[in-house]
Amino acid sequence: MLSYRHAFHAGNHADVLKHLIVVEALRYMAQKDKPFWYIDTHAGAGAYALDSAQATKNAEFDTGIGPLWNRKDLPEAVEAFVDEVRAMNPDGTLRFYPGSPYLAWRTLREQDRLRLFELHPTEINVLRENFHDAGRRAMLYAGDGFTGILALLPPAPRRAFVLIDPSYEDKKDYARTIDTLNESLKRFATGTYAVWYPQVQRPESQRFPEQLKRVLPSNWLHASLTVRKPSADGYGLHGSGMFLINPPYSLVNALKTTMPYLVEQLGIDDGAKFTLESKLS
Ligand code: SAM
Repeated sequence: MLSYRHAFHAGNHADVLKHLIVVEALRYMAQKDKPFWYIDTHAGAGAYALDSAQATKNAEFDTGIGPLWNRKDLPEAVEAFVDEVRAMNPDGTLRFYPGSPYLAWRTLREQDRLRLFELHPTEINVLRENFHDAGRRAMLYAGDGFTGILALLPPAPRRAFVLIDPSYEDKKDYARTIDTLNESLKRFATGTYAVWYPQVQRPESQRFPEQLKRVLPSNWLHASLTVRKPSADGYGLHGSGMFLINPPYSLVNALKTTMPYLVEQLGIDDGAKFTLESKLS
């Protein structure tokens, strides 16, 4: 069942939306001295070579990070994220792309901690290699992130950013994500939780944002980026969304300028659009 490999999709429009929100949120959390944990329930390999056979197969980064790479007019939140990708590619040629664990590692301070789950046997080994000199600040778990996270909550410093980023190839991932959020909130109600989801033509994906809004109806933010019309054959990813519970205060304002810019730069046809909605307490 574990056929998904993120390298095929590294740096695509969905990664751009997800990763710029992760960077913006962690930068906000790092403004206070108090330590926090970054928990990634579905970590992937941690970082990707864009000249690998997997990444070049469909070259999805060409319509994701690609169009942003050389732009000089990036809104602040996009720039903070693109600067991290630039830091991985100091000679100016886009060759490497960071996964969420690597972006988090770059943003976290000495007092913060990473907790990363990855189930795929090959991916966890690459993740281990990528974090081999991280020391005790990063703990890697070869296992199921949906249930594994529950043993970590509440985290010792009582502050955490949690990314739940399944591939949703198994449609049970939608329900498991909702269950994990509910169980996590029972243990740790004040954490910031971010869920990525795909816009595809299946009912589970279409009803997912409304289900997410019911998890904590008083404090959420939802941003989605659609890059094209749904395809005629019913297959493929036409966009994606990020749904945050207890979002950082700065995020909604940052996204007001970011989302129209992403539609302009990454939109493929006249189906391109964004949504930005929130209920904040
Ligand atoms: N978060 C990563 C990033 O942004 O760079 C990408 C993660 S990728 C979308 C999803 C990953 O989850 C895959 O590497 C897959 O092997 C892994 N996975 C699938 N089911 C899992 C589970 N139940 N627990 C932990 N990892 C799982």
